[in-house]
Amino acid sequence: MANKRRDFVKQSATGLGAFLMSNLAHSSPSNASPGNVVCVGGHPDDPESGCGGTLALLARAGYNVTIIYLTTGEAGIQGKSHSEAAAIRKQEALNACKIIKAKPVFAGQIDGATIVNNEWIDTLSKLIESEKPSMVFTHWPIDSHRDHQAAANLAIQAWFRSNQKYPLYFFEVSYGIQTTGFTPTDFCDISSTQAQKREALFCHTSQDPADIYDIVHADMEKFRGRALGVKAAEAFVRIQDNSTLFNGLLPK
Ligand SMILES: [Zn+2]
Repeated sequence: MANKRRDFVKQSATGLGAFLMSNLAHSSPSNASPGNVVCVGGHPDDPESGCGGTLALLARAGYNVTIIYLTTGEAGIQGKSHSEAAAIRKQEALNACKIIKAKPVFAGQIDGATIVNNEWIDTLSKLIESEKPSMVFTHWPIDSHRDHQAAANLAIQAWFRSNQKYPLYFFEVSYGIQTTGFTPTDFCDISSTQAQKREALFCHTSQDPADIYDIVHADMEKFRGRALGVKAAEAFVRIQDNSTLFNGLLPK
């Protein structure tokens, strides 16, 4: 029964998993880049923990990967001022992006005081559009952290402004603690980039990465990997456009 379930998941994974597999099979170092990928996260460490393995896999396949950090994690180190914490966490994010092979962009909002308004929708839309993405990743909007919600809501509005021209993939962070009510549509096998992801996350030394990764995300990867029958996976909810929303519910 387990194998049947895995076969079904593999066959029905028409999004990122299948997409990645077909692209990786055909990509070679001499080929032109297959496209651009953008990830929007609330704080330094969120993109790495939510989809760092997938981003590393895409970078390896030749995609240009950009990570937009909505804030610089100003409120994230006890006993440090906002400017001190931001400097530390910016450097940690730069180190992590080097390992993932992503380009970091800091949008300039403040940790714990994020804003969703028309001006910021304009700003985020322009930042995302300037990368000409073929796919965008962001937080699942039902998350206990308001900054994660803000990042998700800004990315969702940017996606509508783009006329939904790229698929939007929501990732989970610390499921059950932060992300809630998340039922994946797509899985990505990150067995070959799991160690790279862990190394990137461990660049965030100010954030107790052993707690984030070894206690929480490593178990999530193992659990999500079971859906594919692989060692480790990251899971996503994919929204494409209105015409595909109900595909999975209709009989073939
Ligand atoms: Zn966060």
